[in-house]
Amino acid sequence: MSSCVSGCTIRGMHAPDCDGTTTDPSGQLVECRGCLPRPAEDGRCLCPWCVGRLTATVAGLPGLVDHLLLMAEPSVSSPSGHTDAGSSGSRPGEGMLYPSALVAVDDLHAVVATWAGEVAAERGIVSPPSGLSRWTVPDADGEAEPIGPAEPGSTAALVEWLAPHLEWITAQPWAGDMLADLATATARALARWPMAEPDRRVTDVRCPHCGCLSLVVSPPATAGASTTVRCSLPACGRVLGEEDWQHTRATALARAQATTAGAAS
Ligand SMILES: [Zn+2]
Ligand SMILES: [Zn+2]
Ligand SMILES: [Zn+2]
Repeated sequence: MSSCVSGCTIRGMHAPDCDGTTTDPSGQLVECRGCLPRPAEDGRCLCPWCVGRLTATVAGLPGLVDHLLLMAEPSVSSPSGHTDAGSSGSRPGEGMLYPSALVAVDDLHAVVATWAGEVAAERGIVSPPSGLSRWTVPDADGEAEPIGPAEPGSTAALVEWLAPHLEWITAQPWAGDMLADLATATARALARWPMAEPDRRVTDVRCPHCGCLSLVVSPPATAGASTTVRCSLPACGRVLGEEDWQHTRATALARAQATTAGAAS
């Protein structure tokens, strides 16, 4: 069985050569919380959790772009308390003030357009309409890079083009790179322009403590904070950290998929 190409590990499980410690991103020696690679789903290169993340990240792009476009409007204050938009009517290429939220939109779109082009090339199918993107001036080889969306709805159109290929994408060895690119661009945008989301009741994953469909997800309150998940039953009230939640959800998803697969055969 192959491992998830995102480099995921199983919490609490260790590779034979693990000495129980690892170094965190700042170089500190810390306790290893799990280093055994998480297996990819059958026939895929990503584990169930990463498949879910890829699907959710792509599905969330149109909404995120809409949110950023709103943030870029001169009449709307950014969360940091100032508008960074210049005079209305400033457009890309005019060398005028270009709201940084629009830079983020361009970034996200360019990442999606680049990967969509990659998918089309590898599958030998017609690329998404080039009219959806703005492009760099072609280089000597006639190659141009996407810069951003041609129109406000272009990213959504590109995502619609990409969606039917997601299943195939999860079976490609570069699926982890695509997920990392999209997740990074999304996280960067959300860190600066958080989306105020309401609490969300979880309908498909049970509380690991009391077994009820009683979990509620509270999105990060501020940039950099993490999602909290708690059981809404007063008798239980269990609170799950981000890692516990991801673990619980991945396990529930895997179990649901196994059940579906069993029922289908
Ligand atoms: Zn370990
Ligand atoms: Zn993974
Ligand atoms: Zn509970």
